[in-house]
Amino acid sequence: AIRVRYAPSPTGHLHIGNARTAIFNYLFARHNKGKFIIRIEDTDTKRNVADGEKSQLENLQWLGLDWDEGPDKPGDVGPYRQSERQDIYQPLIQQLLDEGKAYESYRTEDELEADREAQKARGEMPHYEYEYAGMTDEEKAKAIDDAKAKGLKPVIRFRVPKNHDYAWDDIVKGNVSFNSDTIGGDFVIAKRDGMPTYNFAVVVDDHLMKISHVFRGDDHVANTPKQLMIYEAFGWEAPKFGHMSLIISADTGKKLSKRDETVLQFIEQYRNLGYLPEAMFNFILLLGWSPVGEDEIFSKKDFIKMYDEKRLSKSPAKFDSKKLEWINNQYVKSSDEDVVMDLALKQLIAADNLPKDPDEKTLEWARKLINVYKQQMSYMAQINEMADVFFNEPDKVEGEALEEISNDDAKVVLKAFKEKMTEMEIFDKVQILASIKAIQKETGIKGRKLWMPIRIAVTHEMHGPELPESIELIGRKTAIKHVDEVLS
Ligand code: GLU
Repeated sequence: AIRVRYAPSPTGHLHIGNARTAIFNYLFARHNKGKFIIRIEDTDTKRNVADGEKSQLENLQWLGLDWDEGPDKPGDVGPYRQSERQDIYQPLIQQLLDEGKAYESYRTEDELEADREAQKARGEMPHYEYEYAGMTDEEKAKAIDDAKAKGLKPVIRFRVPKNHDYAWDDIVKGNVSFNSDTIGGDFVIAKRDGMPTYNFAVVVDDHLMKISHVFRGDDHVANTPKQLMIYEAFGWEAPKFGHMSLIISADTGKKLSKRDETVLQFIEQYRNLGYLPEAMFNFILLLGWSPVGEDEIFSKKDFIKMYDEKRLSKSPAKFDSKKLEWINNQYVKSSDEDVVMDLALKQLIAADNLPKDPDEKTLEWARKLINVYKQQMSYMAQINEMADVFFNEPDKVEGEALEEISNDDAKVVLKAFKEKMTEMEIFDKVQILASIKAIQKETGIKGRKLWMPIRIAVTHEMHGPELPESIELIGRKTAIKHVDEVLS
């Protein structure tokens, strides 16, 4: 049976790279009618952050993912948090100790550091040197007793088989092989506080949770041989592995770094800017995967249907925020009116451009405003900038714009328009359009010479959405005031 998992460490918010891992596992499970499982890898207690798990799960849900088993959805092979699985790990660690496949290591951090320095000085790759090398059994027992007498606590190390190749047929990368002599020596499977390390717990859990396929980031490739050794030591069959390519920045060509604050990398940040979850889902799954053909925008249902893990790309995926904006704009255009309204209203409120509890009249006005900009918005937070003229005193008219209105024709148009605005019975786009047409008839001025002065005078901009509608939204009082300003 197909069973895959997404195994976040609750060390922060959901990162784009992790979201991608989750999405590819999810699509694989749903395409193959298998199970998708969430497991929380929280044994590195120092790195866990409060609400890290909650935020991970919430953001996955927001992206449209659902799972069959997880910390909030117990199944037969729980618990689904590693911190709650100590009773499962301890006997297995003991088993390896009993079989001589693992041993207690008392070398202190300082001694290990000194070893590494010495190795570097000799031009060797830093590695763990077997601390009991050349000792008789008695000498070894004495060394251990001495360490215990000093009150030292051991880590448990896995005895790495000598000069043995560990290879697997990677779903993404093809054949990958590591010689055991190159992986840095006997590695730690349990820390001094007794907690298992990632490489140990992940094997135990993937085995006991009957995971059939592991799709994860390229950064884990070097862990895989270590994990294969543990599978071998227990006599368990390993799952199939697929290591997905790096994500690089389209701007710099460098690996996307969580520390680079110039690129938004957390799902939360996009959520706060008013991106649509369906668009994010679509964008993320194109990082290292592509459908057959030219089209790139599909529904989740279609993606599940067409998903094929063989189309995961070996080459690095380019993270291009312009593409994300484009995709989001596609979704905005085809979205339900209500969804867009809701998201855009939230953005207007968040920016204090609307009161927290807008009354009916304000809401009606805001809905009209959002409609004017809907087609142009890549993401909803842009409404605040695009519609700035409706909220803030505009900049002074200068330069080219000033030239456009500094002539007699413009003055004639603006005087006439001010008069009409004052007299208009209902101040709406229909009446506004009618009066502009009337001015054309009365003065013979038409086209750009008619429209541009009005646009510039009222909005202080040379470009913008449909003029009569904009003027209606700006309102009579402000519109007249702006025209007065340029006439004086
Ligand atoms: N907790 C690991 C991570 O966040 C999971 C790695 C794996 O999928 O094996 O990177």
